[in-house]
Amino acid sequence: MPGVVLAVDIGGTTVKGAVFVDGVEQAPGSTVPTFTASSGALGAVLAVLSALAGTARALGHEPTAIGVGTPGLVDRGAGMVRYAANLGWTDLPLQQLLEARFGVPTLIDHDARTAARAEMAVRPALRDFVFIPIGTGVSAAVVVAGKTVTGARGQAGELGHIPTVPNGRPCSCGQFGCLEAYASAGAVLARYIAGGGSAESAADVAGLVGHDGLADDVWSDAVDGLATGIITLTATLDPEEIVIGGGLGAAGPLLLDPLRAKVGSLLRWRDPPAISASRAGPRAGLLGAALLGSAARSSSRHANQESP
Ligand SMILES: [Zn+2]
Repeated sequence: MPGVVLAVDIGGTTVKGAVFVDGVEQAPGSTVPTFTASSGALGAVLAVLSALAGTARALGHEPTAIGVGTPGLVDRGAGMVRYAANLGWTDLPLQQLLEARFGVPTLIDHDARTAARAEMAVRPALRDFVFIPIGTGVSAAVVVAGKTVTGARGQAGELGHIPTVPNGRPCSCGQFGCLEAYASAGAVLARYIAGGGSAESAADVAGLVGHDGLADDVWSDAVDGLATGIITLTATLDPEEIVIGGGLGAAGPLLLDPLRAKVGSLLRWRDPPAISASRAGPRAGLLGAALLGSAARSSSRHANQESP
């Protein structure tokens, strides 16, 4: 991964960034809240990139490319975020904005597909898999024969909005009973609090599983929702493996053990796919963004060489 890449991973709570020089992450990185009293998500992205450009120059390097993973409906070819409810963006030409501001080739992509890119780099033999980051929301990157499936409008992989409970809880998307309304970190925390529990985060709720009946119920509903989503994906795609990432993915065996058991009990007619934790880990989003930036740099070099 040659070049000096500014990599950014946009989340609903924080925007994280790091400088990668020839594929090696440099310190310090930059993390800012996605929303502050004085600025929105775009302001946070610009602040992180300005800090990273400063870091690169302090290390004696001029940035050569930018890669950004963002939630929402992302049209990578057009460089547009079509819609990101949590960020307040509609038809935002993010790639063009960043290229104009920082003067280097830039690529943006959906955050799940960006993280899946990192997983593929860490495990090059993995060709058919679904990467499911579970964080504030739930999404997925579908990888078939080593290629990420984007769909006709860049909207493939919206696993979080598969209805898993008929007439269930309302979802932020307008539907009812979506997987995300039960299995996201946000839903786990909200349901635990709505049930009378007291916790600061979904990780707190996870820590109470096995000791607290309400936490057990909320966790079990999350596992059931995910299992329903996974058997739907398995019947459709026949993946070799389901890779769980994101903040809640870090719950490890607490999530993966009951999930494997549930998927195994639901799928009666075939062997279930392996279900594993992301090996790229919590830095998958940033590493994937760096790989994306590296691709932006090489495609821009090719374009320049081909022009008369
Ligand atoms: Zn939904």
